[in-house]
Amino acid sequence: MNLNTSVLSERSCQFNMSSSKTIVWFRRDLRIDDNPALAAAARDGSVFPVYIWCPKEEGQFYPGRVSRWWLKQSLAYLEQTLKSLGAELVVIKTQSTLSALLDCINATGATKVVFNHLYDPVSLVRDHSIKEKLAEVGISVHSYNGDLIYEPWEIYDEKGQAFTTFDAYWDKCLNMHSEPISLLPPWRLVPAAVTGTVARCSIEDLGLENESEKSSNALLGRGWSPGWSNADKALTEFVEQHLVDYSKNRLKVGGNSTSLLSPYLHFGEISVRKVFQCAWMKQILWRREQNSQGEESVTLFLKSIGLREYSRYLCFNFPFTHERSLLSNLKYFPWHSDVNHFKAWRQGRTGYPLVDAGMRELWATGWIHNRIRVIVSSFAVKFLLLPWKWGMKYFWDTLLDADLECDILGWQYISGSLPDGHQLERLDSPQIQGCKYDPEGEYVRQWLPELARMPTEWIHHPWDAPLIVLKAAGVELGLNYPKPIKDIDTAREHLTEAIFKMWEMEAAAKAATSDRMNEEVFDNSDGIETSAIPKVILKEMSSCPTYSSNDQRVPSFQNCNNGSLYGKRARYVEEEKLHADKLNYHNKDAGTSRGEQDLCSTAESSASKRLSTSRTSFSVPQSCSSSDGRPLQEYESSDLK
Ligand SMILES: Cc1cc2nc3c(=O)[nH]c(=O)nc-3n(C[C@H](O)[C@H](O)[C@H](O)COP(=O)(O)OP(=O)(O)OC[C@H]3O[C@@H](n4cnc5c(N)ncnc54)[C@H](O)[C@@H]3O)c2cc1C
Repeated sequence: MNLNTSVLSERSCQFNMSSSKTIVWFRRDLRIDDNPALAAAARDGSVFPVYIWCPKEEGQFYPGRVSRWWLKQSLAYLEQTLKSLGAELVVIKTQSTLSALLDCINATGATKVVFNHLYDPVSLVRDHSIKEKLAEVGISVHSYNGDLIYEPWEIYDEKGQAFTTFDAYWDKCLNMHSEPISLLPPWRLVPAAVTGTVARCSIEDLGLENESEKSSNALLGRGWSPGWSNADKALTEFVEQHLVDYSKNRLKVGGNSTSLLSPYLHFGEISVRKVFQCAWMKQILWRREQNSQGEESVTLFLKSIGLREYSRYLCFNFPFTHERSLLSNLKYFPWHSDVNHFKAWRQGRTGYPLVDAGMRELWATGWIHNRIRVIVSSFAVKFLLLPWKWGMKYFWDTLLDADLECDILGWQYISGSLPDGHQLERLDSPQIQGCKYDPEGEYVRQWLPELARMPTEWIHHPWDAPLIVLKAAGVELGLNYPKPIKDIDTAREHLTEAIFKMWEMEAAAKAATSDRMNEEVFDNSDGIETSAIPKVILKEMSSCPTYSSNDQRVPSFQNCNNGSLYGKRARYVEEEKLHADKLNYHNKDAGTSRGEQDLCSTAESSASKRLSTSRTSFSVPQSCSSSDGRPLQEYESSDLK
C-alpha cells in the first residue's frame, strides 16, 4: 500500500475565513490531529464545537463504568486543547441529540453541521436519521472518515460484493490504489458568535461518574492516562520500544507486550491512519536493515489494525451482528441460560485458574490481553454454554476499551459464527492453555491470591494436587477456591449434545416448513420480531445527490415486504444448512492452519445472501448490565468479596 505523508497544503487555507459558521459535532473522535470534520469546519470559517451526551439514545449499549471514566477524562483533555486553539467545547446533556443540535444551530445561526462517521449499529441508525432531519430544515450536513483507513463501502470484491473473509478483505485494503490522507491539526480556531442560548453544562454535570464510582475509578488513573496527547505518547513508546518484538511477544499474557492503544482508538484520541503510518515507516526502515523480525512484527501489528477495520466493515455490511450470529448457525443452539454459571464466570470462580485470573483482572482493571479475552469468552460459550450475547454485553459493560464492533467480532469469532474463526465444536482445555500461556503461573498468582502459594506444577489444575500440597499452599478446594464448575469431559459431552440438538432442531424446522405444516418448532431466539434485512448498498448504487462523496453511506432497509419470519423459515433453514456445510468445509481447512493466531477474522457470509432475518430482543440478566443506568459495581462489588 502506498501511504502518503500528511497534507501540508491544507494549512494555507485555514485562515481563509468566510462568514460560514459550522457546528462541529464531536463523538468518538476526541482529537484535533487528523480530524477531518474539525479541519473542514476550521477551513470554512468559525466553529462551534459541541459534545452531546444523550444516555437515552445509547439504550442497551449505555457505556460501563470504566468506559465512562475514560470518556470523562478525554473530554476534559479535548476541552483544554480546543480552548488553547481559541474555541470552547460546548457540552450538552439532553434527551434528544437532534434537538440539541437544532438548539446550537438556532443559538449561533450556523448553516452547517459536520461530524466524523461511526459504524456501530446504534450510531448508524441515529446518524442517518439526524442527517435526514437536518437536511429537511435546510442545514447542510457533511460527514467524514475520521475512524478508518478505508470506508467500508470503498472495499468490495471484483463483483462489487462485500468481502466475507478477513484475509481477502485485508489483502484488498493493502492493495488499494487511492491513498489515505491524514490532516494536520488546525493552528487556531475562530469561535462562532453565539446570539441565543444553549442549555450547556460542565463535563462533571454529564454524570459520567457518580459518587460511588469515584473511589474505584481513582485506581484507573494509575495505569492509564486518557487524552489525545497521551495517545500520541503511547504510540511513540510502542513503536520505538516494543513494536520490533511484537511478533515474538504479542501472545504473552500478563505483560505489556502489545500496544495498549485500544481505548485511545475507541474514543478516536489517535487517528488509525497515523498509527498505520508510523508502523509502516518502521517497516520500510527494518526492510532496509534486513531486520526480518521487525518486518514480521509490523505485518502482524498492521493485521491487528486491519481486524479493527474489519470489525467496522462487518457491522456496516451486516448491521444485525450485535444480535444474531453472522452465519445464523447458532439460531437453534440450546444455550444453557444458567445465571449461576454466569455469575461464577463473572466473579472468576469457575475453578479454572487461568479463566478466573482473567475475569478477576478484567473486573479489577477493565483491561485484558487478547489471548485472555479469547480464553475466557470461549470458556463461557463452549464450556458453560452461556449465550454469547451475555458475554458480549458483560465485556461491553466492563472493558475500558469497550467497543461494540470489536466486541461483536471477538464474540462471533470464538463462538463459531465465522467461517475463519474458531470451530463451534472446538473446546480447549483451560488447564492446557494455562500451562501454555502462563507456564510459570505468574499471571494466575497475580490475580488469584488464594493460589499464590501453589507450586507451579499444580497451579493450573489444583484439583489434581495431592492433599498435602494443597494444605501446604493453604488451598481448601470448595472453600477458599472453588472446585471446577464442570470437568472437561462433561463439558465436551454437553457441547457435543448441544450441537446435535441444534442440528436436530434445524432439521425439524426445515421439515415443518417444507411440509407447510403449522407445527410448533422450538426456536431459541426468544422475542423475535420480524424485520427486514438491512441490505448493503453497493458502491455503484450508493450515491445520494444531497450528500458529498465523503459522506457516510448507510445500509438501506430494502426488504420491508418479507413477511413473517415463519413464512421465510424454509428458505432460511435451507441457507442455514448451507452455512453449516460451508463452515465445516472452512473449519477443516482453517482449523489447523490458524491454530495459534487467534486473531479474529470474519465471515464467509452467506448471511449476506439471506433473504430474511429477524430482530432478536437483547436479553441479558439484569445483574450483568449497567445499561439501566445503575452502576455495574452496585451488583458486582459485593459479589466479588
Ligand atoms: C471476545 C473478544 C472481545 C473483544 N472486545 C474488544 C473490545 O470491546 N474493544 C476492543 O478494542 N477490542 C476488543 N477485542 C480485540 C482485542 O482483544 C483488543 O483490541 C486488544 O486486546 C487490545 O489490545 P492492544 O491495544 O494492546 O492491541 P494490539 O495487539 O496492540 O493491536 C493494536 C490494535 O488493533 C486492534 N485489534 C487488535 N486485535 C484485534 C482483534 N482481535 N479484533 C479487533 N481489533 C483488534 C485494536 O484496536 C488494538 O488496539 C476483543 C477480542 C475478543 C476475543
